[in-house]
Amino acid sequence: MQEFDPHVLEEKPIAPPAEFQKRARVQTLEEYKKIYDRAKDDPEGFWGEQAKMLDWFERPQKVLEWDLPHAKWFSGGKLNVAHNCLDRHLAKNGKKVALYWEAEDGKRLKFTYAELHARVCKFANALLTLGVKAGDCVAVYMPMIPELPIALLACARIGAIHSVVFGGFSAVSLADRIGDAKAKWLITADGGYRRGHVVPLKDTADKAIESCPTIEKVVVVKRTGEKVAWKQGRDLWWHELEEKASAKCPAPAFDAEHPLYILYTSGTTGKPKGVLHTSAGYLLGCMYTMQLVFDLRADSRDDDVYWCTADIGWVTGHSYLVYGPLANAATCVMYEGAPDFPKRDRFWEIIERYKVSILYSSATAVRAFMAWGNDWITKHDLSSLRLLGTVGEPINPAAWKWYFEVIGGNRCPIVDTWWQTETGAIMISPLPGATPTKPGSATLPMPGVISRVVTMKGEAVKPGETGYLVIEKPWPSMLRTIYGDDERFKRDYWTRIPGVYFTGDAAQLDADGYTWVLGRVDDVIKVAGHRLSSMEIESALVSHPSVAEAAVVARPDEIKGEAIVCFVTLRSGIEPTRELRAALGEHVAVTIGTIARPSEVRFADLLPKTRSGKIMRRLLREVAEKGGVSGDTTTLEDLSVIAKLAAAKGTDEE
Ligand code: ATP
Ligand code: MG
Repeated sequence: MQEFDPHVLEEKPIAPPAEFQKRARVQTLEEYKKIYDRAKDDPEGFWGEQAKMLDWFERPQKVLEWDLPHAKWFSGGKLNVAHNCLDRHLAKNGKKVALYWEAEDGKRLKFTYAELHARVCKFANALLTLGVKAGDCVAVYMPMIPELPIALLACARIGAIHSVVFGGFSAVSLADRIGDAKAKWLITADGGYRRGHVVPLKDTADKAIESCPTIEKVVVVKRTGEKVAWKQGRDLWWHELEEKASAKCPAPAFDAEHPLYILYTSGTTGKPKGVLHTSAGYLLGCMYTMQLVFDLRADSRDDDVYWCTADIGWVTGHSYLVYGPLANAATCVMYEGAPDFPKRDRFWEIIERYKVSILYSSATAVRAFMAWGNDWITKHDLSSLRLLGTVGEPINPAAWKWYFEVIGGNRCPIVDTWWQTETGAIMISPLPGATPTKPGSATLPMPGVISRVVTMKGEAVKPGETGYLVIEKPWPSMLRTIYGDDERFKRDYWTRIPGVYFTGDAAQLDADGYTWVLGRVDDVIKVAGHRLSSMEIESALVSHPSVAEAAVVARPDEIKGEAIVCFVTLRSGIEPTRELRAALGEHVAVTIGTIARPSEVRFADLLPKTRSGKIMRRLLREVAEKGGVSGDTTTLEDLSVIAKLAAAKGTDEE
């Protein structure tokens, strides 16, 4: 991947807003570099020091044992993850709010650290009475209710491995994941709420279990009160178990490398992989990045109110709604439902109500908010915000600037955080008080992370050239294996380019060493011998004032090799016309070069996405290739075509 069109690299750096910088943990780029170099020169010394932020029952003897690709971090050390997230805060922060929970219908609950601790202990005891032991796997299929983090922490407390399956997945997806992990217990709910409708989780779980012979007990939270089928002896109500359980539950000491959870990746590129994370290294990665990336204040009089909008079904919810913030004694907001229910200003209402100071959301969500228009936002007081974050996909510079101005009022730094389910914690991101940002770039690696952009032979590419993003050294929160498939772990991540971790993402470095993640390696388009990234063209489209979101794919073309097909969602109130289509084609040609001029621009009300909000370009490639597209049709793209394709490809790929 040598050729490129350097257009996204021209952005001028934006200095950290001064007010923010004054109180930040790390206040200058020089300071960042000092920490970075210290970590680079002596990684084990660095991580050994960082590991002191965990509360150990027994101190580790050795920081790292590295037998590529297998890492053991903090050998000899013993700790309990739930103790680190709850018990150790009780003396000082027992009365502090750990969680504000808001239901979609407006109901609100709050839990102090002491209350959350008691609930976790009770449910941990309940799990013990069901025969769950350390090392056993418990599947979790739940809506975004407080019992979900409670279930996770209860598993962690007794050393059980949780495997959360996002509550939007189908029976087949759930059954696949239960089967892969051979879980004997499933925790679910009678249902959940989404846009006012009941999502029948128990029904779906029942269907899944028909093909899951390993499941012995099903614990059901009563959330909706709807009637559900009940299998005597197998199904148990959560509240009945909890009522009977004691609030005293010891937190045993587990090895640093004791498995904590399995989580399947989004499946954007193929069959989902069961990523295995273990205890100490993972927790350290979450805790450390909460402090540096979110600059979290959790021990002063003006503590942050922190809101990560991700579902706990995804890694972002695991690391940055449960483990990272709670290990740091933060006050978190958790919201059950959709951002447009009852209206499109639900998020801004929540921020105003709880005085949220840190908002962490996805690039996709930002583009949706931008499409909905600013009127929903300006009627709310968002002055409590001091820091914004994004994750999940490259954020197009236009969406970045909109986020900065309209949501952040030009005073909140944005941390564009690059990481993966596999990395466990944020790997590349600005430090908000120190790193000048460039819209669309995740900027610089975290201290302790050695990232590179290389050719398939592992040689560094020149600034501005596209290459493969790799990580050179092991890091504490890295995945330990693919559950049940260590060969795949080696093959997918460690042998593509020997000796380094292969991320699967394409990227460029600019002259300042900033990383520009361009998307997945598979999303690179080759037109007439030139390699273009879908991200570059999408960003060009999103920089047009009529466009809210765009997805760009290639379809085979006899003359050019590949032809560029754009799927475009317009901002609210903009009409899709033949003229606009032509204007968008021209806009791309002017912004990037005529080589990037699209062969087709199709308007779509919505783009097909994974359940975690990532655009399914793979699906769109098929629509572009086989969808019977010809000539200049001004009709809107029929979304049912995409829906049918999605259904035909199987439920994991919705
Ligand atoms: P699968 O691996 O099964 O295809 P997935 O990669 O979509 O699924 P995740 O681990 O949730 O599953 O997503 C990680 C990916 O998301 C990264 O590899 C990258 O492509 C993208 N990503 C995440 N954050 C950013 C970011 N800040 N900028 C650019 N891309 C990002
Ligand atoms: Mg991936």
